[in-house]
Amino acid sequence: MDEMYGENRMDQLRKLFFMRIENHTLVADAGEAAIPVLNSPNKGSTITPKHLVIHYTAGRSAQSSVDWFMKPGSDASAHVVIGMDGKITQVVPFNKKAFHAGESKWNGLTGLNSHSIGIELDNPGLMTKTGTKWFAWFGKEYPSSVVIEAKHKNENVVRGWHIFSEKQIEACVNVSKLLMSHYQLGDIVGHDDIAPFRKTDPGPAFPMESFKSKVLGRRDDAPTTYTVNTENTNLRAGPGMEFSILAQLKKGTKVELMQTQLNWYNVLVVTRVTGLNEPEGWVHKNLLTKD
Ligand SMILES: [Zn+2]
Repeated sequence: MDEMYGENRMDQLRKLFFMRIENHTLVADAGEAAIPVLNSPNKGSTITPKHLVIHYTAGRSAQSSVDWFMKPGSDASAHVVIGMDGKITQVVPFNKKAFHAGESKWNGLTGLNSHSIGIELDNPGLMTKTGTKWFAWFGKEYPSSVVIEAKHKNENVVRGWHIFSEKQIEACVNVSKLLMSHYQLGDIVGHDDIAPFRKTDPGPAFPMESFKSKVLGRRDDAPTTYTVNTENTNLRAGPGMEFSILAQLKKGTKVELMQTQLNWYNVLVVTRVTGLNEPEGWVHKNLLTKD
């Protein structure tokens, strides 16, 4: 994680948008839409948060998740829920224990509820394919346009995952920047990092690497560039040989790293490639050399 922290980290974190934290709750800046702040009964004692944990809800809607977190006795909550539309709802004050992590471990700590802030992103999660149709665990059908097929980093099989919306990621970046700065948090982790044998959220549809670099503000935001080291390198639509070939890249082509998944790098092609409209895709890491 440390390499993500540039020397100007704190300067970067100070560039925040549209909200602030007062008395451990989010407050919208003047002229911005108010942020609903609820007070869930599903919370514990006072904590000093050290890390940030990202989740998906595996739920039907942001509202249904908020309702569940507000229901007495559900024993489930998170500090914040973010809808697909980017709407933020706070459910538990940031200095109180929320019930989002369960049995978990990170960096010498166990039981991360006592040591972290949890953000839940509205998302139905893992999708199951029946014929040509995709279904969530609760039976609702979703169009294939909102599903990506990918391997979870803790698994070895390609499965379907509901995508996150750009508005949702942007809202999550903004809240996370504020939290990292205000509470001087250490790491940003997924539930699947702190409970890898039980949990798959936020999963491969969540762009963890680019998310982290946006939140942590890498020094000067300079992308990490790589050079294609092999003639006719395949640029693929996804992180694996099973994904279609978008283009063949010449040796010497420059790319910028956006995120990684196992041995595959999601890159932006910097060198102009004839016939390629959206110069973004996945390349096996052995075919790239770091500049
Ligand atoms: Zn979770």
